[in-house]
Amino acid sequence: MLNIILFGAPGCGKGTQAKRLAERYNLHHISTGEVIRSEIARATALGRSMESYISRGELAPDAIVVEMISDYMHSHKGEGSIFDGFPRTTAQAEAFDKMLDGMGLKVDVMIYMDVPEQELVDRILLRGKESGRADDASEEVIRNRIEIYRAQTAVVADYYSAQNKYTRIDGHGTMDEVFERICGVIDSL
Ligand code: ADP
Repeated sequence: MLNIILFGAPGCGKGTQAKRLAERYNLHHISTGEVIRSEIARATALGRSMESYISRGELAPDAIVVEMISDYMHSHKGEGSIFDGFPRTTAQAEAFDKMLDGMGLKVDVMIYMDVPEQELVDRILLRGKESGRADDASEEVIRNRIEIYRAQTAVVADYYSAQNKYTRIDGHGTMDEVFERICGVIDSL
């Protein structure tokens, strides 16, 4: 029962790879971004409380996101998961460890998908044309998300590195090439 964190800047291709990995390794795929977008689309109280953050490219509050993951963990007991977009701050990582510990579980590995910034922006702009995601449409919001990633999220790698759970892969190349690199990491666990 593996718990894998797929990590990287916005637009690095986490979502695409996470879906394929979930199939290959028979894991659940949980994307906090997707959960948040679905709450917003259904106009729930939770969704309304997060809309303003997401549209500006800022992070949703830690407490809300941790609560979402806690609900997820309790409804998926006994199953392995791919975490896509979580944890995104050190506070989230610490809360996650505590939560897993209390359930007798652990993170097996964090895999960082390394992609150069200009490629990130190009990919997201392209995706925005097809997906209609509001936070993918403007270059300014995209740059802001990357900036926030650098300021608040990149350090989460150090957190898992200190636990010897961090691996970097080259996120450049075709989707198949990147997929095989990630599988190589998981197969060697
Ligand atoms: P991307 O990886 O392209 O940024 P996501 O779907 O993972 O796309 O996330 C979209 C948005 O949802 C983020 O910009 C952020 O505002 C919010 N979000 C997602 N996950 C988290 C999280 N763990 N903590 C705070 N905010 C989050």
